[in-house]
Order: sequence, then C-alpha cells, then structure tokens
Amino acid sequence: MNKKIPLSTPTMHGEEMDFVKEAFEKNWIAPLGFNCDGFEDEMNQYLNTDVDVPYHSLALCSGTAALHLAVKLAGVKRGETVFCSDMTFAATVNPIVYEGGVPVFIDSEYETWNMDPDALEAAFKKYPRAKAVMLAHLYGTPSKMDEIKEICRRHNVILIEDAAEALSATYKGRQCGTFGKYGALSFNGNKIITTSGGGMLLTQDKSAREKAFFWATQAREKSPWYQHEEIGYNYRMSNIVAGIGRGQLMHLNEHRERKKKIYLTYQSGLKDLPLTMNPHLEYTSPNFWLSCMLIDKDINIDPIKIMEILAENNIETRPIWKPMHMQPVFKGNDFIKLTDKAVNEDIFARGLCLPSDIKMTADEQKFVIDTIKSCFGGT
Ligand SMILES: *Cc1c(COP(=O)(O)O)cnc(C)c1O
Repeated sequence: MNKKIPLSTPTMHGEEMDFVKEAFEKNWIAPLGFNCDGFEDEMNQYLNTDVDVPYHSLALCSGTAALHLAVKLAGVKRGETVFCSDMTFAATVNPIVYEGGVPVFIDSEYETWNMDPDALEAAFKKYPRAKAVMLAHLYGTPSKMDEIKEICRRHNVILIEDAAEALSATYKGRQCGTFGKYGALSFNGNKIITTSGGGMLLTQDKSAREKAFFWATQAREKSPWYQHEEIGYNYRMSNIVAGIGRGQLMHLNEHRERKKKIYLTYQSGLKDLPLTMNPHLEYTSPNFWLSCMLIDKDINIDPIKIMEILAENNIETRPIWKPMHMQPVFKGNDFIKLTDKAVNEDIFARGLCLPSDIKMTADEQKFVIDTIKSCFGGT
C-alpha cells in the first residue's frame, strides 16, 4: 500500500521551533507574551501593505473565538437577524447563535461558490432590519467583494469576514479579511498556516481591539482586585502557540505558491474529464487552500463513490461543506435562494475536495489524478 496522501496537514520549517525554544528558555509558558506580540505585529505588517488605515490584530485561541468576538463587537443582540454564508464550516455560524442572533442563510453563486450578492439583496427585502452579514471565503477563494460591500453599505449593516480559509488570498490586490469591519483568521491544523490551533481577530479599530482583548481576558476590569462588570471568556493565545505562528508566517507565500501549483496540476491533469475545478474571478488571486472538483451536471457519478475508491487507494478526500440550511441543527432557520434547486445543494451533490497537502510529491499527485481518471472509466 502506498503512503497515505492526506487532504492538508501541517508543514513545519524549523523557525517555528526557534520561537518556541525561546519561550521555553525565558520560561514564558503562558497566555500572552512576546511571541503573541510578535505574531500580531508581523501579521499587521503583512496586512498593512494593502490598506491605508493600519490593522490592530488580536491573537486568540481559535478562529471560532475570533468570530465570536467579532459578532459581539458588531453588537448582535438576541433575536436579531444575521445573514450568513450557507456553504461553509459550522464555525462560521455558531458564534452568531452564541450571542442569540438568528442566522439566515444565503445561497451561493457559481462563479466563486461564495455568497451570491443577488440573493443577499433579496434577503434584505425580506429582512430589512438585519443587523450584520457574516461572509466566508470558501476554500480560499475571494467572494464578490465589490458587490457585497456595496449592499452592506447601502443597507447600513456591519460586514464580518470569515477569512479562516483565505489568509493571503487577494481580491483586486487586497487581502481577504480586510474588507469587513471585522475579520477572522484560523490557524487550525489543516489551514494554510497553522499554530496547531489558534485564530486572529482583524480590525482597524484600536478601541475594538481593546474591547475584544478585555472580553478574551475574562473581562477583568482595571482594578487592584479581580473586578468583573461583564461576562468574559478565556480566549487568549498561548505564547508557545504564537511562536509556531511566527515561524509559519515567514513561509506563508511559499505555502501559497505550492497550493497554486497543486491546483494548476489538477486542472491540467484532469482537463479531459467531465469536470471543472473550483472557480474564481479573474481579478482575484485565491490562496488555493483546497483544490476541489465539480463533476459536470449530466454525468451520473456520485462524488461519494469517488471518495470511497480514492480511500481504498489511501487517498484522503472530503465532501464539499454540507450547506448549513441542510443541517438538522439549523432546520428552523430561513434560507434565501434565487433558483429552484439551490446552487449550494447542486455543488454539494457534485463536488469533492482533493488532496492539497503542500508536501505531496509530483508522483503522488499523478497517482491521485490517475486514480480519479480510473473512476471515470479512463486509465
Ligand atoms: C477552520 C474554519 C473556522 C474555524 O476556525 P478554528 O480555528 O478551527 O476555530 C471558521 N470558519 C471556517 C470557514 C473555517 O474553515
């Protein structure tokens, strides 16, 4: 049996260990500390190249925590409607519910697989008093930002960007995560860079960062004793974990190049089959976190069947995120679509995420491609 070909796993380089070692040597084995400060500064520098107002990032224990604090900062209150991407990981939605907000899911379009601006506009007709929009960039592909930003501006709602999968992806040259009032990154184990687990809240509003830091530190008031006037959380990033992040960030562009190469290799290797790769707009530059294929409409092949055949060959794949409106836990939530059959149900039924690990060798990727071909009756 060949070695397992995974979907996406961590890739370490060495500098990560240097930062971690420094933390050990200084016995700074705690939340906060010099690596957290350094990681935030370095991320701010990375983001600030594209923006006029500087970023004030906040390192946190997970991307979910960053999204939760973003929802709190947006002031979402019990019973308020939040429009939310539908085809995404549950972590995009859950923080809305933590705050008592009511997610209304918005269907996607076929050009980026992200939130359809026309469906979003339709949602405002039905729910004119919606409070915020929670937008995810699926698999590192930028959404239709000009259209979505314009709609949010016109309806005067706050845009929160879930850029957990999209660090380093750009839209018209600008980084994903820097379009919303608040953005969130994830450094979970399989993301384009990882800290084992972690996240970051992105904001240009210094006082918002301070407020989020306060909540993330158990809402400790400034006082000689432990004084609490609000409910807080323990959401801070550890100084050890941040060290891994600093080392990883040095290699982000390299990871990005590798991911792109993997995507292009699939695209050319699979071009004779009745399928397409996950699409993007020509003026955007995805980070190609995961390469995905979409089987043509008239072809009667179930992607789950392909997943099983690949698994028999020790190749890991994953279905497309099952849309949130199809999840039992959200069965009471509304879903806005413009077509008879939802775009997301269609993509979910025909799509599959392919191995996108940056350590995958050319031979391994060829094996993946050949095995996919065999599923379609080729060799
Ligand atoms: C990974 C991910 C998250 C959550 O990040 P964690 O760091 O695992 O909490 C949120 N949204 C999307 C779209 C993700 O892929």
